[in-house]
Amino acid sequence: MAILPIVKDPNPILRKKAVKLRKADAGLAKLADDMFETMLVAPGVGLAAPQIGKSIRLVVIHVPEDEEDGTEEVSLKLINPEIIKASGEQYGAEGCLSLPGIAGNVRRAFQVTVKAIDTDNKPVRIKAEGYLAVVLQHEIDHLDGIMFTDRIENPKEDLWMVEE
Ligand code: ZN
Repeated sequence: MAILPIVKDPNPILRKKAVKLRKADAGLAKLADDMFETMLVAPGVGLAAPQIGKSIRLVVIHVPEDEEDGTEEVSLKLINPEIIKASGEQYGAEGCLSLPGIAGNVRRAFQVTVKAIDTDNKPVRIKAEGYLAVVLQHEIDHLDGIMFTDRIENPKEDLWMVEE
């Protein structure tokens, strides 16, 4: 596996709509593994292919176990992920590996259902809520050239600097 360099804003690739993939193959599975390792080392909870300079619809996610709210650890490598259902609302802080030093409060759906294929070409369907739903929405946004800061309604109140 390899650690890949992470593309930072304002690189134009972050603003492009990424292309849909026809199917998974060995090269794509290897890229997903490298992205996964890159995300863990960063460290981050999600990474989309445009963030490593590839404008393709591939995301990786790793949400650690949270003993406090009882959520289990989740690891995902998703090809062509698509939100097919969204409901409810939540509002909370997000950051992005492509926007170091910035965090902000974003309004998101509370629950989403995502359809995708995995790196073995099997169709997958994920029903997520809370934090995992936020990460899925954030990463899928990257595939459409959307940064979390675009969704901030009131930057004066909802955007702030964080120490690296
Ligand atoms: Zn991001």
